[in-house]
Amino acid sequence: MAEVTGRRPLMAGNWKMNLNHLEAIALVQKLAFTLTEQQLNDVEAVVLPPFVDIRSVQTLIDGDKLLIGYGAQDISAHTAGAYTGEISGAMLAKLGCQYVVVGHSERRQYHAEDDTLVNAKVKAALASGIAPILCVGEGLEIRESGEHVGYTLAQLDAALEKVKTDEVEKIVVAYEPVWAIGTGKVATPQDAQEVIGAIRTRLAEKYTGGTADRVRILYGGSVKHDNVAAIIEQPDIDGALVGGASIDAEGFARIVRLGK
Ligand code: PEP
Repeated sequence: MAEVTGRRPLMAGNWKMNLNHLEAIALVQKLAFTLTEQQLNDVEAVVLPPFVDIRSVQTLIDGDKLLIGYGAQDISAHTAGAYTGEISGAMLAKLGCQYVVVGHSERRQYHAEDDTLVNAKVKAALASGIAPILCVGEGLEIRESGEHVGYTLAQLDAALEKVKTDEVEKIVVAYEPVWAIGTGKVATPQDAQEVIGAIRTRLAEKYTGGTADRVRILYGGSVKHDNVAAIIEQPDIDGALVGGASIDAEGFARIVRLGK
């Protein structure tokens, strides 16, 4: 797709709450020697470790000039102050984070993050020069009721409230149907394209056609090396947000190679 769309494919690995800082170093090193320079130029490979690993990942990637990007799994909506346990955008930017996951369904579900908070986190990331990887997607009941496109677009609209055209181009959107996350039930390429195509159309309506053409939109939900190729072949899908399969260096490297 990359040659056609001009959008660089992106494969981002959300490690969730897995791997300590020593394991993180080992995984990134293995990724770096498994993938060639050409492969890492063709496809942007990004790791999203737990907060406590980020400094180690930064030191390794910067020190060895590795062609691997990195970011965080969450960001505070606040800039600083009495918010025990939270991590600000400025702190992440200081660690060189290029990306941060916002609106992941696990945070919406287990931490009661609503659309208003997701919108605030999108803005906090942008204000710190970090690209949000904005996750949207429906649960099983909504999929079965046939309301999945409208539901997902409503999440998108809410997350982008008062986000300007020049800022939206920095955002990566990840369509992650909740029923596919960590379940082994991957969406069909056609199902993923239906929603992701609708997301791009909505971005064109809200902003401009050119803007919508430049925003990268990923699919996420039980992506593995044996199902990613058919998904990435779809015209509007620019890569994948990978959970479980990203904490195995060889498996994630195979996914990255298939991203082109
Ligand atoms: C995720 O956590 O964003 C995800 C897509 O997980 P998995 O690949 O394990 O379904």
